[in-house]
Amino acid sequence: VKENGKGAVLSFSTAMHEEASRKIQLENALHEALRNKEFVLHYQPQICFKTGQLVGVEALIRWMHEGELIYPDNFIAAAEESGLIVPIGEWACSEAARQIDFWRKKYGWSPSISVNVTANGFTGRLVSHLKAVLEDYRLPENSLALELTESMLATDFDGTLSCMHALQAMGVSISLDDFGTGYSAMAQLRRYPLSALKIDKSFIGNLSDRRDAAIAETVLMIAKSLNMKTVAEGVETREQYEWLKEKGCDVWQGYLASAPKPPDQVVWMYPNEFNL
Ligand code: C2E
Ligand code: CA
Ligand code: CA
Ligand code: CA
Repeated sequence: VKENGKGAVLSFSTAMHEEASRKIQLENALHEALRNKEFVLHYQPQICFKTGQLVGVEALIRWMHEGELIYPDNFIAAAEESGLIVPIGEWACSEAARQIDFWRKKYGWSPSISVNVTANGFTGRLVSHLKAVLEDYRLPENSLALELTESMLATDFDGTLSCMHALQAMGVSISLDDFGTGYSAMAQLRRYPLSALKIDKSFIGNLSDRRDAAIAETVLMIAKSLNMKTVAEGVETREQYEWLKEKGCDVWQGYLASAPKPPDQVVWMYPNEFNL
């Protein structure tokens, strides 16, 4: 950037223009991706501390684009801004249900799947979509669960809330993802019908820090006093596992058990019991 006034303004607006056109390109590419079925779900086990049993798997989206696997941090924000997050969320729910049906028929294995949905994805459309999908495959109510990711505040708080009540009535449980990292976590906690809190991996990865350990412990206490389950994500080491187990956390997931895997590897990789 040049020092003289005019030059600086010029290159600033050029940069803004480039940024804007990159965004439009990405949004167009995401539209195409949805149409061409370029999204895939990978699955990571969620394990009960007490029993070592698999309680379900979390579905994490990836974009197979021109032979390259693209991770969600590179496109979820753009999908949210463009509103594409709504059809993507619906796709993820259908795909997860189809996957359970496939595993069930082929292996007699039907784990419950947790799907990530951003606040703005909790719409009446999602509710009717989920209902239809569960009916189509004749899946039991608790086959699908949702994780509310906090990347953006709900623009329609009341709409989100009534959608959640409808889901709860359908037997679809909702957990609050990344608890403690996003917007007004406490406000969400007060208003939404949530059955679990997920402790973000940024705290778990740093338990040797007194502050992060205190935050993780506080999340466990809050959940307990509100009768909610706790799920720790990003568990990578035996020490983290032991710490969380001792503090009474209910469920864990992380590389210590397995990274998220494509569906064809999941059934072989994930035993029903994880004995560490
Ligand atoms: P998240 O829901 O908090 O998911 C946890 C992230 O940590 C995932 O990254 C997962 O692959 C990664 N992870 C799992 N175990 C470990 C571990 O032991 N250590 C470390 N360092 N990382 C671990 P991923 O798959 O790249 O997803 C990033 C975020 O993108 C997710 O964070 C979620 O907020 C969002 N996301 C993923 N799939 C979807 C989706 O279908 N829809 C929406 N709306 N968001 C999604
Ligand atoms: Ca999640
Ligand atoms: Ca997240
Ligand atoms: Ca997280």
